Amino acid sequence: MTEPIILKGKPVADLNKKYCLQLIEENQLSPHLYVFLIGEDPASEYYVGNIKKQGKKLNIQVTIEKYNQISEDELCNKIIALNNDNDVHGIMVQKPLPKNINPAKIESLISPDKDVDGFHPLNTGLMLQEKECFLPCTAQAILETMDFYNINPNKKHIVVVGRSNVVGKPIANLLLYKAKNRSATVTICHSQTPELSVFTKQADVLITAVGVANLIKPEMIKNNVIILDAGMNEILTVDNKTTYTGDVNYELCFNKCFAITPVPGGIGSVTTSILFKNICNSAKMKKK
Ligand code: NAP
Repeated sequence: MTEPIILKGKPVADLNKKYCLQLIEENQLSPHLYVFLIGEDPASEYYVGNIKKQGKKLNIQVTIEKYNQISEDELCNKIIALNNDNDVHGIMVQKPLPKNINPAKIESLISPDKDVDGFHPLNTGLMLQEKECFLPCTAQAILETMDFYNINPNKKHIVVVGRSNVVGKPIANLLLYKAKNRSATVTICHSQTPELSVFTKQADVLITAVGVANLIKPEMIKNNVIILDAGMNEILTVDNKTTYTGDVNYELCFNKCFAITPVPGGIGSVTTSILFKNICNSAKMKKK
């Protein structure tokens, strides 16, 4: 049996970063992302801090506004002001949000043309209709990883585990784009799916976005499956250090796969580069 292919995210992310640098230079852009970070969440602080650090390398300005607490009205007023600020090209409100703030209200308030996370209901509707729009970054990251490694979804049975608006639902829909010749047969599973393995075993391509470490075990997959694991789960090692693992038990499943994304170093590393691409595209559209 040949060695399984490791679907690393870095080369995909590098292409996107190159695209950003070129777009900025050719069009003399000054892309600017505005991020709200509310409450105390170390994982979010790390993620947003990393966006700022990487943005700097690409000449993308990232402003982080951090609050321990803020009222929903005050946050809404700030977003409305930024919607009207021509020097801001993308607005992001990092989740999880404290209980006093309704995430759906905030998602609908961000102007669709600055919605670089692709969460606004208008962008969701456009996505369903296969029209040009901002797409949720992780779903697009999965798609671009498949494209990069020539994984053609056409005529494949693709099983998606997870039905969130952020990853599961959008990737399931993007794999059905008729005009782009992505004609997969898609099954979506979730926490209420009885006997998950009945479905996962049928997958030619298995996509996971669950948030449960090592949920998928070798007996749940068929030989030569292609796995794209978007899960990013914090776990403690035996010597009490924090590390990350996916939704798939990588070590045990590895030899049964035709190809598999590592965690970390897979989908997660592509996601941020998509965010930057969305910001640069937004800056270009506004310049026009
Ligand atoms: P989410 O909103 O919590 O959704 C999780 C989904 O998994 C839900 O649809 C849930 O079902 C389903 N689920 C939970 N337990 C299950 C089980 N035992 N069997 C089958 N399905 C189960 O999470 P999310 O925001 O989509 O994130 C999912 C994972 O992706 C997390 O690990 C997150 O950290 C990661 N993530 C990664 C990136 C990246 O860039 N790589 C970006 C975003 C998220 P119900 O709908 O029935 O509750």
